[in-house]
Amino acid sequence: MKPKKFYISIIALLLISIVLTACSGNGRAPSKDDETLIVTSFYPMYIFTSNIAKGIEGVRVTNMTEPQTGCLHDYQLVPADLKTLEKADIFVINGAGMESFMDKVISQLPDLTVIEASKNMNLIQDEAGEDNPHAWVSVSGAIEEVQNIADALIKADPTNKEAYEKNSRMYIEKLENLKSKMVDALKDVKIRDIVTFHEAFPYFAQEFDLNIVSVVEREPGSEPSAGELAGIIRDIKEKGVKVLFAEPQYSPKAADSIALQTGAKVYILDPVVTGPEDASPDSYEKAMEKNLEVLIEALK
Ligand SMILES: [Zn+2]
Repeated sequence: MKPKKFYISIIALLLISIVLTACSGNGRAPSKDDETLIVTSFYPMYIFTSNIAKGIEGVRVTNMTEPQTGCLHDYQLVPADLKTLEKADIFVINGAGMESFMDKVISQLPDLTVIEASKNMNLIQDEAGEDNPHAWVSVSGAIEEVQNIADALIKADPTNKEAYEKNSRMYIEKLENLKSKMVDALKDVKIRDIVTFHEAFPYFAQEFDLNIVSVVEREPGSEPSAGELAGIIRDIKEKGVKVLFAEPQYSPKAADSIALQTGAKVYILDPVVTGPEDASPDSYEKAMEKNLEVLIEALK
């Protein structure tokens, strides 16, 4: 009987030690053994980070929000988001005020490593003096954000330094080519004055030397008031604006009604804030190539 008892105690001790090992550590539920889980806040951050972490064994990138969510200006965290973040090793956000829920994340998960893609960038300010967060909408901004994310990932996960460096270098090279192609194709367009929807395009306009005369809707989903609409129509008529750019994420209702009253034409520009569930790594480039085609047609 003695040997049997002895074995039972050994097994019990082993079980206890396994349980203790699993419970120790940093207090939050660890991601799968040896896996670095990077969670991104929304679609463009997911595309950039996926490129930087592409093909690296033991590194997984997942997006916190659905890819159709769009900008996170007024986004409220749901319990499922905090569950996702509890498992994360690193959280990649755009920053500059886009993720207004960060106070809650930091207070609930103080040990989470947060990477801010727009850190130290030269941000454009609106009339109220607030930073415009849509820096990724210009290709130069995207390049800076990719570099920032890559640098911070290397710091947070130095084991994979070389892979992050190689991936980001290759991705940035593609983005540099895209930028040259766009700047080149747009340098001689005749029309420079445009009207856009929501404040997503100032960086884009700066890059291609376009002049945003008016912004129709400042908040996603909010229709302009009758007074605002009249002001926009007056601006468009006074400045002879010929083109309006709506966005695939917003209802074109206001744009259509302005177009009807001013004779300006409506086109669609994509600020790359939404995409399919299984977005391919080149989704940003593809969306920008499409934007380029639209601009060439609209501004000639
Ligand atoms: Zn936005």
